[in-house]
Amino acid sequence: MREVEADAMDNVQMIDEILQKVHFDKSDIVTLLKAEGEAKERLFQKASEIKRNTVGNNLYLRGLIEYSNICKKNCYYCGLRSENQQIKRYQLTENEVIESAKIAYEHDFGSLVIQSGERSDKTFVDNITRLIRQIHKATNNKLRITLSVGEQTKETLKKWYDIGVTRYLLRIEVSNPELYKKYHPADSVHDYEKRLETLYTLQRLGYQTGTGVMIGLPFQTVEDLADDLLFFRDMNIDMFGMGPYLAHEQTPLFKYQQYLQSKEVRLEVSFKMIAVLRILMPHVNIAATTAMEAIDPIYGKSRAIRVGSNVIMPNLTPNQYKKDYFLYDNKPIHEDFTQSLLKTLPSECEVAFGQWGDSMHYSLRRSND
Ligand code: SAH
Ligand code: SF4
Repeated sequence: MREVEADAMDNVQMIDEILQKVHFDKSDIVTLLKAEGEAKERLFQKASEIKRNTVGNNLYLRGLIEYSNICKKNCYYCGLRSENQQIKRYQLTENEVIESAKIAYEHDFGSLVIQSGERSDKTFVDNITRLIRQIHKATNNKLRITLSVGEQTKETLKKWYDIGVTRYLLRIEVSNPELYKKYHPADSVHDYEKRLETLYTLQRLGYQTGTGVMIGLPFQTVEDLADDLLFFRDMNIDMFGMGPYLAHEQTPLFKYQQYLQSKEVRLEVSFKMIAVLRILMPHVNIAATTAMEAIDPIYGKSRAIRVGSNVIMPNLTPNQYKKDYFLYDNKPIHEDFTQSLLKTLPSECEVAFGQWGDSMHYSLRRSND
């Protein structure tokens, strides 16, 4: 017993020493990601202190519109993959998108995210272009728009930037190219280099650039997660959406279920990823994602906020489609978005109604350019 206590003490001391450093190397990050008990609480306290002193306690709102579950890709982990014939495919009408955008406007959300299965054909690109224009018109140019519609050509991304889309979220999913191959078919549509190049293009065009990874995938190690965090820092990313991997029965990756850590562990590791990221990159925006809420409906979101997240994305997709945007099993469905919005938020956080909540990291990065 005494030995266990002594180990725990050493661990706390080791974490405290790392947390005092100005620059973390990979082994520091691995140690932080492995922290448990009191040592983990020290990590969380430090992250929450850094958050308070940099981005503050504002919580920014992004109304999420899941535009379509039609996808040309076949990622092995995702329920929307084109080979999944068990889901009902949909695409919102223009009117449905505008109505959802108006809800965000009327509730003073400040911004919207339009997310979708990936398509890059002309009809899709033109639809998104028209939607952006219509949303701006219907909401008096008051809402910032983030797109999360997968890899697109430079020309398309430039076109959307030029009509006022300022933010783009494209998760790298996993920053190790070898691992990337395990989760995607080996073809030119699922090419790691192309995804990475798209992130660079977004940055060059001037977008606030977002990325992220799934946490707790089969075969992924804590060293891989440390590399993901270093990748984020090296890429100078402005905003993040990352969360636990959740197996989906209708996908090929489901057969590796037995190699997964428990959902609870994946959620805890996700919190640690958020906390370390907040310390590594104090001024970025970090979303508390739905996948965390899928594991813990009561505390998933609030703990993420406590340890470093400063963005939430209430789902404004019309109710009849929510269940069809079926990325993973047990995706939480709130018929009334206010339920998911105000329930169990940490007392210190200030919901930033009416604010865009641009990434401070982006402003700092641009002023240093
Ligand atoms: N098609 C676009 C955006 C929609 S998918 C794209 O892929 O970029 C949005 C995100 O859902 C993906 O980036 C992926 O990280 C996440 N996702 C998909 N399947 C998941 C799963 N089984 N568990 C957790 N997250 C998943
Ligand atoms: Fe399509 Fe995105 Fe799902 Fe991949 S993760 S199958 S691109 S929706």
